[in-house]
Amino acid sequence: MRYVSTRGEAAPRDFESVLLAGLAEDGGLFLPETWPVLTTDDWEELRGLPYPALAARIIRLFTGDTFEEGVLEAMCADAYAGFTTPAVAPLVQLDHRRFALELFHGPTLAFKDFALQLLGRMFDHVLARRGERITIVGATSGDTGSAAIEACKGRENLDIVILHPEGRTSAVQRRQMTTVLSPNVRNIAVQGDFDACQDLVKAMFNDAPFRREMNLSAVNSINWARIAAQIPYYVASALALGAPQCEIAFAVPTGNFGNVFAAWAARRMGLPVSTLIVGANRNDILARWITGNDMTAQPVIPSLSPSMDIQVSSNFERLLFELLGRDGARTATAMRAFRDTGRMPIDESTWRAATALFRGHAVSDEETIAEMRRLHAQGYPADPHTAAGTAASHAAPPDNPATPIIIAATAHPAKFPDAVERATGTRPALPPHMADLYEREERFTVLPNDLHAIESAVRAHARRNG
Ligand SMILES: *Cc1c(COP(=O)(O)O)cnc(C)c1O
Repeated sequence: MRYVSTRGEAAPRDFESVLLAGLAEDGGLFLPETWPVLTTDDWEELRGLPYPALAARIIRLFTGDTFEEGVLEAMCADAYAGFTTPAVAPLVQLDHRRFALELFHGPTLAFKDFALQLLGRMFDHVLARRGERITIVGATSGDTGSAAIEACKGRENLDIVILHPEGRTSAVQRRQMTTVLSPNVRNIAVQGDFDACQDLVKAMFNDAPFRREMNLSAVNSINWARIAAQIPYYVASALALGAPQCEIAFAVPTGNFGNVFAAWAARRMGLPVSTLIVGANRNDILARWITGNDMTAQPVIPSLSPSMDIQVSSNFERLLFELLGRDGARTATAMRAFRDTGRMPIDESTWRAATALFRGHAVSDEETIAEMRRLHAQGYPADPHTAAGTAASHAAPPDNPATPIIIAATAHPAKFPDAVERATGTRPALPPHMADLYEREERFTVLPNDLHAIESAVRAHARRNG
């Protein structure tokens, strides 16, 4: 299995080098050179496997010969053993056709644990074999950072620096990052929004000497390995509801487009997915594009679902590359235009092809609260991101009323206690392993939105041993 860049100018690479590099040298994102496609019999064989075994079978299709026989299987078993339910990703029925796919039973209570618990182990394994050390830098709007830190803390062969937008994550989200005091972990609060943090990370990667000096790597959702590790739960849940004999729709609360792109990938691999519903909040660029081919960036406005407060969805580039017939030059031109003008011109026929599959809906804070209240009254406590997903599934359902809709429940309600209390009048309790989160010591540095300042901090952290 080899990987190509969405901008078409980087040489193809294997999984191991894609894992370590994150972003391609030409600024593009990696995708498999060819997609593995499964037959009906292949899908059938996966049904009923324990989640870690199923995950290993799917992820193995993308890892080539990076891991020796048995290693990936053991890493998956170990990564998901820390989840608090043996189902790992349980399905809960909400109404006659809607099911919540609960992705929040991992150590940091959000779906990012699925990929990052595995990535931390993959990195350590590969780096130990190569005798190398890397510096992981990442930007987070909330949940990526804590999941990455939790997955990387104390690991031998890497340092991690996470940028978060100062004052724009929930207190639980911030504390889940800043109370991890392992010496290989550093948190920076950037005076800016999430897009500013993401731009800083991209700028560090584009600074070739700095990138080499620090042996930089990424764990944010531009890393292909993360997408690969998110495909299995779409497969497992679809099989549980009768695929491949029937079609399934997925509704995904979306920010950086990574999670919904993993659902797209499952479909590309032959899973019968009729519809992908993109749930957005008031930062609605994707919903505007899907409903009216308007991809114009606007300033990010904080909302009740901070992990979706994004106007530049990095992983959209992967879909664009596919929609443009895998034409790297056209993809690069469109991305450059977007960067320069804040508008992405996408021709009518490309857009029409996409809207055969995608539905989109922007859910306001008021609607989010109303949906959380409605679900709570029916006995289902939902976090604001999950509620945006279920609300979108009501506003923009698939055409066939018999198609089951699986909604990605991306975070545990206790991660967003203020919103839950506002909607329901009750404050959700943190699970036992986090009950003392508010008493733990925090450690982070506040820095301006300035590349030099950030690079100096990363350098100081990575060199603290040398
Ligand atoms: C990260 C996150 C999202 C957005 O996922 P993307 O892959 O960035 O689209 C949605 N909900 C929660 C709770 C998240 O943590």
